[in-house]
Amino acid sequence: MIVLGVESSCDETGLALYDTERGLLAHALHSQIAMHQEYGGVVPELASRDHIRRTLPLFHQTLQQAAMTQEQIDAIAYTQGPGLAGALLVGASFACGLGMALDKPLLGVHHLEGHLLSPLLASTPPEFPFVALLVSGGHTQLMRVDGVGQYTLLGETLDDAAGEAFDKSAKLLGLPYPGGAAISLLAEQGNPAIHQFPRPMLHSKDFNFSFSGLKTAVLTAVKKYPEPISDTDKANVARGFVDAIIDVLTAKCISALKQTGLKRLVIAGGVGANRQLRTALNAAAARKRFQVFYPELEFCTDNGAMIAFAGAMRLKKNPALATRDYGFNVRPRWPLHELSAA
Ligand code: ATP
Ligand code: MG
Ligand code: FE
Repeated sequence: MIVLGVESSCDETGLALYDTERGLLAHALHSQIAMHQEYGGVVPELASRDHIRRTLPLFHQTLQQAAMTQEQIDAIAYTQGPGLAGALLVGASFACGLGMALDKPLLGVHHLEGHLLSPLLASTPPEFPFVALLVSGGHTQLMRVDGVGQYTLLGETLDDAAGEAFDKSAKLLGLPYPGGAAISLLAEQGNPAIHQFPRPMLHSKDFNFSFSGLKTAVLTAVKKYPEPISDTDKANVARGFVDAIIDVLTAKCISALKQTGLKRLVIAGGVGANRQLRTALNAAAARKRFQVFYPELEFCTDNGAMIAFAGAMRLKKNPALATRDYGFNVRPRWPLHELSAA
């Protein structure tokens, strides 16, 4: 079964073709980051308009890469939510129009399920069950995953998401949006002994997170330096921030593994690309004897491959999920726990 995946929830347009027999056949992506950068964040209306421009060319590019015709597609999976309403509508209406034209069935995919299952696209995928840490731009959740559609929330952030904390702290240091990767790079030059920032909820005995206080600590530190803040001071603040957030993320993963008794940890979402996080988790894995799995770097942030894959996994379990009801709807707010079991 060949599934077309369409992702348009935020500022990436992603198309992909996944074959349940042969794996990922092709994928194409356009990131709007450069377009939104001058505004310091995603402008929803600009995002929608750009998805309209990009979707069809990327679709053709994906078909060409896979050396396939559109008639060979068996089903279309599109991101139904959560995300920006206008952006979601572009992908959904494209998927529905194509489905109707080709007489192919459709499936609306939950964006976070896409992220969550993305590590299974890697060359050495984890087996179920596992503990998953989803760390993206809009979410930070620890979950127990027993299979496709079997997700138990263990804990989540009470305020900012991890990616958001990275981006907001980066902005305080004058780095362009989204600054997650940039602040991480800067931190590598910083001295770890200068700033000891708080580790919010490190000892809270649950699996919840809170990052807004950490962001305030960064702001307070930045304000103490005379303007303009020097590159060395910036790097030291970045280092303090990264060390604090990685400490918390790592510690909570370890306690979630301990509490569930599981030996496999899976990281998903954009912050999963972070080098310091990977280093800390790999070290913990060696020390505590668990296995840790990551998505391929290119599939950490939004992409069509994870949507095609999540759609294919669901359809494999339950082909009846595919619908020829082309009256699409999107769900900008869609808690993962409201997602039906596969
Ligand atoms: P959601 O999936 O929750 O709706 P999103 O789709 O915007 O949010 P992703 O695409 O998964 O989130 O990830 C984007 C986030 O990942 C941004 O906040 C970005 O700064 C962060 N990020 C990407 N690379 C890195 C990195 N190397 N280090 C830290 N953060 C990073
Ligand atoms: Mg994005
Ligand atoms: Fe995402």
